[in-house]
Amino acid sequence: MQINPNRFWKKVNVQGGDKCWLWTACTDDKGYGKIAPDGGGVPIAAHRAAWVLTGGALKPRQRLLRRCKNRLCVNPHHMQATTVCRPYAKLQQADVDEIRRLHKDGDGVRALARRWGISPTAVSNIIRRKTWK
Ligand SMILES: [Zn+2]
Repeated sequence: MQINPNRFWKKVNVQGGDKCWLWTACTDDKGYGKIAPDGGGVPIAAHRAAWVLTGGALKPRQRLLRRCKNRLCVNPHHMQATTVCRPYAKLQQADVDEIRRLHKDGDGVRALARRWGISPTAVSNIIRRKTWK
């Protein structure tokens, strides 16, 4: 990715403290900020660009989760890099029930995580009812 930091940050309304930094340039049809690389080409997500420009590492399979849920926010402090094999959203209530049942029957968190292709943290959150109450 080649993006001139000056060109990038001119398009961002950088705020102090822990506020959201809003993208002020063009967005895609879902409302996410986009920026073309230097010299043109396929636009990339503005929040990913912000993450990399501020020194964050991002492996190809990693996704950035925005904890503030603001689509225009590019504040790297509001993001978290995660490897998502299978998005949470794809889990059905039946999967969740099954995970809880198998865990009660003695299946380990890691085994369940492998089986559903989600992270062990996601599994333990489900078991402890932090997600999917
Ligand atoms: Zn934010």
